[in-house]
Amino acid sequence: MPTQNTRLLLSRIGKVCVAITGSTAAEIVEKTAVVVKDNPFIEIRLDYLDQPLLSLPVLKTFLSENAAVTAIATCRRQSNGGRFPGSLAEERDILCQAALCGFKMIDLELESAEAFKQADLQKIRDTSVPLLVSYHDFTSTQDLQHVYDRILKFEPDFIKIVPTAKTLSDNITLIRFLERVSASSNIIAICMGAPGIISRVLGVRAGSAFTFAAATVGEETAPGQIDARTLYETYRIDEVDAATKVYGVAGNPVQHSLSPLMLNTAFRRETLNAVYLGLQTAKISDLLKLVHEIPIQGLSITLPFKQEIMPHLERTDPISEKVGACNTLLRGHDGKLYGFNTDVAGVIGPLEKRISLKGSKVLVLGAGGAARAAVFGLRDKGADVFILNRTHETAQKLAKQSNSKALKKDALPKGQYDVIVNATSVGMAGTKGIPLLGPDDLRAALVFDLVYNPVDTHLLRMARQQNIPVITGVEMFVQQGARQFEIWTGKPAPEEEMLRVVIHALRQHANAAAASHTPETPSVRFDSKMRSTIPPEGTKDSAVRVAKRVKAS
Ligand code: NAP
Repeated sequence: MPTQNTRLLLSRIGKVCVAITGSTAAEIVEKTAVVVKDNPFIEIRLDYLDQPLLSLPVLKTFLSENAAVTAIATCRRQSNGGRFPGSLAEERDILCQAALCGFKMIDLELESAEAFKQADLQKIRDTSVPLLVSYHDFTSTQDLQHVYDRILKFEPDFIKIVPTAKTLSDNITLIRFLERVSASSNIIAICMGAPGIISRVLGVRAGSAFTFAAATVGEETAPGQIDARTLYETYRIDEVDAATKVYGVAGNPVQHSLSPLMLNTAFRRETLNAVYLGLQTAKISDLLKLVHEIPIQGLSITLPFKQEIMPHLERTDPISEKVGACNTLLRGHDGKLYGFNTDVAGVIGPLEKRISLKGSKVLVLGAGGAARAAVFGLRDKGADVFILNRTHETAQKLAKQSNSKALKKDALPKGQYDVIVNATSVGMAGTKGIPLLGPDDLRAALVFDLVYNPVDTHLLRMARQQNIPVITGVEMFVQQGARQFEIWTGKPAPEEEMLRVVIHALRQHANAAAASHTPETPSVRFDSKMRSTIPPEGTKDSAVRVAKRVKAS
């Protein structure tokens, strides 16, 4: 039976508890003061403090002055995955003291609870502050019921079980577990790790009493943790319910994909009860299991599954058959999966806005997945296509399949092209490689670089220097996503809004990378010209203007 304190607590808390860290009490107070303006339910990680016990009076003052704040006290020891280097007895004393300082819940890890003598546990219980007993598995998702039974022995007010998802299927294990036990206890369960993102968003609707979030990006207290703003604004955690349709991007890796931002923004804009998640997996069988169990209504498919997914589909559209790959899955009313290729529209759409492709002369650089979409799409529209690739044999194969021409660089026709399309990964952030064409080779009326990170690639800069109009890869990215949205929802996609958020995110990445000077950070270079093309957020028609200016720049 829940105590009165627990019932009161449950009535005060929301779906999201924000974890706050800091090495001094002043730092924690400063961060907490900002967070609680939007989210008064927090966890203070006392184990991150240099001197937890000495910091408590300052935290007490803060909590007494901010009565609306509900704070959990956590002081996890190093041996249990936390940062507290002290002894079991010191942990007990800090938690008991925290209970006297206005904390509304005490988090005690299962390993400590099991190591305590009865009298130690009684000391914590005597505080009358609701007790949460937690368990973290930093490597895998094992028998959750077994952990639950171990915790139940302590009759806590709240039970927290946090395993690590190695596969998408681990989320299914966790969700089924939550559905089973949530009626009989106040359970909080989440999977850590990149494949566990689903559990962070869908766990609450499966019965988790709440979920955890980082205060900001970079302040995560667990692998895979999402920052509070993203959880509310992108994933709309407050609105996810039993009727929410689930979509996602499946691939490996997908952690830095901008698709969740773009498509959740579109769902929100169109007030659709739908959420779009990153589904990171190494195996297609793992993905298929998730798709059927959750169930998932539609998927974006990215590397390395665009071809591998094909035999698992009931049917695909004709262009996917030609390209031999699909990037979009729709779950039909019959529960079966249907495949589409919107990469082709992502290349052709932006080009057709500018030129007539019938009879045009197009040079495609590359012969991989993106090049295949470009070549088949262009051939379908009646363009004359030339293919240049680092590995000539691959170009020859694609040319044969698509009835186009594979050329070596020294055999390129000397005349003018209508368009040059870069579909190699050269120029992409984090990759090295020499562009297949130099400045003298850019004899074209239009240059389209499919690489979108960075927005402003070396190839596009070369083209601009010669006053050749360009199309950035962002336009393809938004177009292929917009077509996916339309396939899934049957509604026109809010393209302007989708473009705006993608450009805004790329700008933020670029600025963060520039500030940190770390080449490993996913980076986008944003020069001053590009920055000036972006109007303030929310400006009506802003993205159309952005597109036009990006086009012109
Ligand atoms: P992929 O299948 O791996 O193909 C990579 C292509 O790049 C191959 O033709 C490869 O040539 C060539 N390449 C790789 N490294 C090279 C180097 N150092 N020098 C010369 N050529 C090199 O990849 P993909 O899926 O086609 O993607 C290609 C690019 O398109 C990526 O940058 C991706 O970001 C971009 N893309 C953008 C969008 C969008 O929405 N804007 C969508 C899809 C893809 P070999 O055959 O010799 O290996």
